[in-house]
Amino acid sequence: MRAVTVIPGVPGSLRLLDDYPDPANEEGPILVEAISVGVCGTDIEIIEGQYGEAPPGSDHLVLGHESLGRVLEDPTGTLQPGDLVAGIVRHPDPLPCPNCAVDEWDMCRNGMFTEHGIKALPGFARERWRLQPGFAVGLDPALTEVGMLLEPTSVVAKAWDHIDRIGRRTEWQPRNALITGAGPIGLLAALLASQRGLSVHVLDLATEGPKPALAGALGAAYHSGPLDQLDFEPDVIIECTGAPVVVLEAMCKVGPTGIVCLAGVSSGGRIIDFDAGALNRTLVLENNVVFGSVNANRRHWNGAAEALSKADPAWLGALVTRRVPLSEYAAAYSPGPQDIKVVLDFTA
Ligand SMILES: [Zn+2]
Repeated sequence: MRAVTVIPGVPGSLRLLDDYPDPANEEGPILVEAISVGVCGTDIEIIEGQYGEAPPGSDHLVLGHESLGRVLEDPTGTLQPGDLVAGIVRHPDPLPCPNCAVDEWDMCRNGMFTEHGIKALPGFARERWRLQPGFAVGLDPALTEVGMLLEPTSVVAKAWDHIDRIGRRTEWQPRNALITGAGPIGLLAALLASQRGLSVHVLDLATEGPKPALAGALGAAYHSGPLDQLDFEPDVIIECTGAPVVVLEAMCKVGPTGIVCLAGVSSGGRIIDFDAGALNRTLVLENNVVFGSVNANRRHWNGAAEALSKADPAWLGALVTRRVPLSEYAAAYSPGPQDIKVVLDFTA
């Protein structure tokens, strides 16, 4: 069968193999036919050789961690043939650490977890894959075109879950949320904020393209100026750019008892002249919290599936700015300036 692969650590090794072996039974009893995979920055980093690890005993890593497929067979009866399904990306470490031991592999403490399409497990950019029932998430049948958004949605569902948990330290009633960065993660974070009834603000550099209208369709206010000049104090900020200046301004801007969730990954290496003492003073005197968030566990995947089923399918569809047939796979990994989410289509 066909599979999109790289040799991890070797730039330029991206290939569409025609003779990749069918998924081994050990991968799980649920056999799935691929519909599509979403492409994100992690895939690009793996293709550039900066990241990624092949499964033990193999040189090749199949890409793809934002999955959507249709069940072909499930002898466990968890799902029915024809059901839409996505695969949970991360698996717990074998030790396991205290968090993996309670199925919170998103909080793994020793880094020995594995991840489909990223770290030591084959990804979902292949025509068929298999899942264990505990790592298969069924999707609303209406999500055939957009169900590959479940993985990025699970990431923001976790961010909101942890914001709630931190908020419970006191009597906390957030009224508004600021999302910095209107890429797929930022817009999905804004979707979940709007579903919570918050007054939503989205900040992004873009003044053209689809982002302002997508934010507007959620009822969110869209800002493209500097963060420190916004005329309100956010109760919650979900920072999705990873841009160092935006990260620092978010920590300074959040209102009293506010929560800043850092969900964007900076590349590092940029030195900024910054008054760290003033930031410390603000965080202490306003009881503010800044925390990082990555990945998602089963609870978050289930919450994400519910959030997508409640969302407007047309709005979700507009996040997918390009669908690339598998035969033209390389084009999917060259995002354009107006792209939000590019999808590799296995049905074309
Ligand atoms: Zn662990």
